[in-house]
Amino acid sequence: MGLRTRIRDLERVVRPAPEPTFEFLDDTVRALDELFRTMAPEHVAVIEEDLVAKGCGFLTHDGLLSIRGDSKPTRLTDVAVEMVIAKVRGKYLGRFALPPAVAQVYLDHPDALPLHACQECRLDIPVRPGLTQPAIPVLTFFDACPLCGGEVGYMRPWVPKWTPPRDA
Ligand SMILES: [Zn+2]
Repeated sequence: MGLRTRIRDLERVVRPAPEPTFEFLDDTVRALDELFRTMAPEHVAVIEEDLVAKGCGFLTHDGLLSIRGDSKPTRLTDVAVEMVIAKVRGKYLGRFALPPAVAQVYLDHPDALPLHACQECRLDIPVRPGLTQPAIPVLTFFDACPLCGGEVGYMRPWVPKWTPPRDA
C-alpha cells in the first residue's frame, strides 16, 4: 500500500462524522410518532419518560438517536429507537409496529430481543435468546403473531443478506 493511500485512509478515519440534518431530525420525530400510534398509551409513556423526562435522549454526531446519563432506558425504548432509526434510513423492512402484547414483553423481560418475526405480516417478535454459559434456554413468548395470527419463527426472507464491505 502506497503512502498516498495510507494518508487518504487516515484522513478518512479522523474526519468527524457529519451532524444530523434537520431533515433527519424531522424524519425521526415523524417515525417515532408513527410508531406511537401502534402502541398502548402506557407504553408510549414509558418511552417518553426515557427519552424526554429523564433527559437522556439525544442524537449522536452520526445521526443516531442514543441515550445519555446514568438512567438506563428500558429495553422497550432501546427497541423502539432502533426501529425508528432503521425506518428513517429506509432499512426497516418489517411491520412498523409495537403492539401492546409485544411491548409488554420488552418491559417484563429486559433481555428479550426481536429475533423472531411473523412470516405473514413481518412483525418483529421478541424472544429471550439462550446463552451457553451459563446455560439458559431460549424463551419464546408467542406461538403465533399477536396481530395477525401468522406463524412466527427465525425466518426473515425479506431482509437482504449482509455482505461484508470489500477492501478499497
Ligand atoms: Zn403477523
